[in-house]
Amino acid sequence: MAFAIAIDGPAGAGKSTIAKRVAKALGFVYVDTGAMYRAITLGCMRQGFDPAREVEKTIAALPSLHVELTPQGQVLLNGEDVSKAIRTEECSRLTSPTSAIPQVRTYLVAQQRQMAASADVVMDGRDIGTNVLPGAQVKIFMVASPQTRAHRRYLEEVARGEKADESQILQDIIQRDYNDSHRPTDPLKQAEDAILLDTSDLDVDQVVAKVLEAVAPKLEVARA
Ligand code: C5P
Repeated sequence: MAFAIAIDGPAGAGKSTIAKRVAKALGFVYVDTGAMYRAITLGCMRQGFDPAREVEKTIAALPSLHVELTPQGQVLLNGEDVSKAIRTEECSRLTSPTSAIPQVRTYLVAQQRQMAASADVVMDGRDIGTNVLPGAQVKIFMVASPQTRAHRRYLEEVARGEKADESQILQDIIQRDYNDSHRPTDPLKQAEDAILLDTSDLDVDQVVAKVLEAVAPKLEVARA
């Protein structure tokens, strides 16, 4: 059976940075499920409608939206590299309500489970430990204060050469956290068997080390 590490938590807790590093250290495939929800949202925006408002159109559009994550870490939408386009503020804001549509979740969760069945994965998202891979050998629930998370996102955007407004980012993060944890379908919440990891006062190396520490004994058992 393939080995799975599930990393869940709110926006900006450091999930993707850590998940990428852990996957590289272990030779696992990194699956960024947030990127998949973002790509669906972008696909709808490009078809000329707002997926957060037009639920029926979004559901109808799903079969025409093929999302792929490449081994190099690119996000492809119908073959086009949209890695950058899915990170705009507008796409971030619209992805939260779009991902609350149950049919969108069913469509992507099936693909996520398939990826985890065929390879050892580090998968990050909101519902990986609770819903997508409840049997994951290691589950981490990563949190940080909203201010810390907003500041990290701000620094990322500035590093990408974008104009960023930290207080707007903070507001968006608080709104997204609220939406993600209050939706009826697969809300963001800690799985009972997940390890809680607060990254507010830790640097990337320290968090990676903590995750690898949690993984090592489980991997040993699985490989025995
Ligand atoms: O992780 P990221 O911030 O890129 O995710 C974007 C949005 O996608 C989240 O705010 C959330 O609404 C949605 N999402 C989700 N379930 C996941 C991953 C992301 O609903 N497993």
